[in-house]
Amino acid sequence: MIRNVVIVGGGTAGWMTATHLNRAFGDSVTVTVVESARVPTIGVGEATFSTIRHFFAYLGVEEHDWMPECAGSYKLAIKFQNWREPGTSFYHPFERLPVAGGFDLADWWLHLDGKVAEFDRRCLVMPAICDAQRAPRRLDGELLTGTLEQGTQFPYAYHFDAALLARYLTRLGTARGVHHVLDDVTEIRQDERGWISHLVTGEHGKIHGDLFIDCTGFRGLLINKVLGEEFLSFEDVLPNNRAVALRVPRDLDKHGIDPYTTATAMDAGWIWTIPLFGRVGTGYVYSDRFCSPDEAEATLRAFAAPGMPELEANHIRMRIGRNRRSWVHNCVAIGLSSGFVEPLESTGIFFIQHGVEQLVNCFPDARWDQGLADAYNARVAGVMDGVREFLVLHYRAAARDDTPYWKAAKTRAVPYGLERRLAGWRSMLPDAASIQPQFHGFEPYSWRVMLIGLGAQPGAPLPALAHADPAQAMALLDSVPRRAGQLIEELPSCHAYLKQLNG
Ligand code: FAD
Repeated sequence: MIRNVVIVGGGTAGWMTATHLNRAFGDSVTVTVVESARVPTIGVGEATFSTIRHFFAYLGVEEHDWMPECAGSYKLAIKFQNWREPGTSFYHPFERLPVAGGFDLADWWLHLDGKVAEFDRRCLVMPAICDAQRAPRRLDGELLTGTLEQGTQFPYAYHFDAALLARYLTRLGTARGVHHVLDDVTEIRQDERGWISHLVTGEHGKIHGDLFIDCTGFRGLLINKVLGEEFLSFEDVLPNNRAVALRVPRDLDKHGIDPYTTATAMDAGWIWTIPLFGRVGTGYVYSDRFCSPDEAEATLRAFAAPGMPELEANHIRMRIGRNRRSWVHNCVAIGLSSGFVEPLESTGIFFIQHGVEQLVNCFPDARWDQGLADAYNARVAGVMDGVREFLVLHYRAAARDDTPYWKAAKTRAVPYGLERRLAGWRSMLPDAASIQPQFHGFEPYSWRVMLIGLGAQPGAPLPALAHADPAQAMALLDSVPRRAGQLIEELPSCHAYLKQLNG
């Protein structure tokens, strides 16, 4: 039996892993988090993916428990600004495309000669709700689904301050029995097979364990530095390797709160705008081949915080890619130590959640069945490779090509298989049979919405639709603004809802 799990690192990854394992195994497994008071956490990571609600549900905590502690707010979509061309925008919401007569509204929209610029707002309900800054719940807490009828998936994710979430989970985890050691790991000792036998800490002596989890961030202290696992860079296809971030105060009474993340394309990358309850998190993600850190900071300040030179900028060098294997011997890397693609579709915390869920599925016993580690490694690699492909699509498909950065995005190599898929999507929008086949979290509708929004839809509609009766599709299209209007009427503003939640 594996009874003793030791996690090194107390950022979002360390504490999400600790609390999840504690919930999964209770007292039968001792979980210890060793966290340095000296080495800071990454300090960013604010937007999430809609599956995050399963994490909180699994822990048994409600929105009113954790959101007020973490400056939490709602995320119904990502708004992509200036990706097709400067001045344009579209939403990628958590909402499937409604279906009429076996074809979804994206196919019908192309057939009915709809304008690309209006696609998202005419075929989906969420964009209007985002524009109107509505909450996804009524003031009594009831979820907006029900009125959405067709095309529904869970309608939102969250924005939160990841550092505050780590502190919230520290309190929750320690109250539930997770051991917390605030100390530096100064040495990692291996046995004669190369497996990790124990850690040496500055003030708490040796810490022994059966399974060690590396949550030390980009440094990959256990998995890369000690075990020497190879890191496979994705920079050949995703060149953004730096970011600069700011925390900008926001007067919510004056501006309200947008229930979405905005990703604004810039000359050498893009800027995220994440509205939290009380402030905005913002950052410029860029490639140092096209922009210097000083230029990036100046661009970000002018865009997001003019007249606020006192705000401190956080410059971050990003390690983009993944370990060849995230589980080696008795060490599993979760979080930035395992891998990271840039934050364009908010998948960092999703990778952590997926990693720990898979660890529970593949949890070893004293036999250390290599098949379990192999299964784990294949799943973790698959999810990251899949997201890599989805993100590369964003740059390749974006109509924008007005700077050297955007021009290079059109000629750079793409991951194996994507070129062939892109060729296919020139005739037919992506579907379950033609997207990257490994599980990576994004459903076919996401690939469709992005392709059309970015301006790379097929040249002609599906010929089959010329033989179909469009009446049902047209009725559905007509119903979208009606349903959106009804929801806008019924739902409170995001600001009002969150104010109530924060008491
Ligand atoms: P870190 O936060 O770096 O934590 C590392 C921990 O290891 C710290 O506690 C440190 O003290 C500890 N440590 C290190 N060395 C030692 C030692 N010797 N002894 C003891 N402890 C040690 N994800 C999203 O889901 N959404 C986003 O919007 C998003 N935006 C991002 C933007 C940027 C620019 C970047 C770089 C990342 C973003 N991410 C995002 C990813 C997200 O930030 C991370 O996935 C998440 O914060 C987890 O980080 P971590 O815990 O793996 O590492």
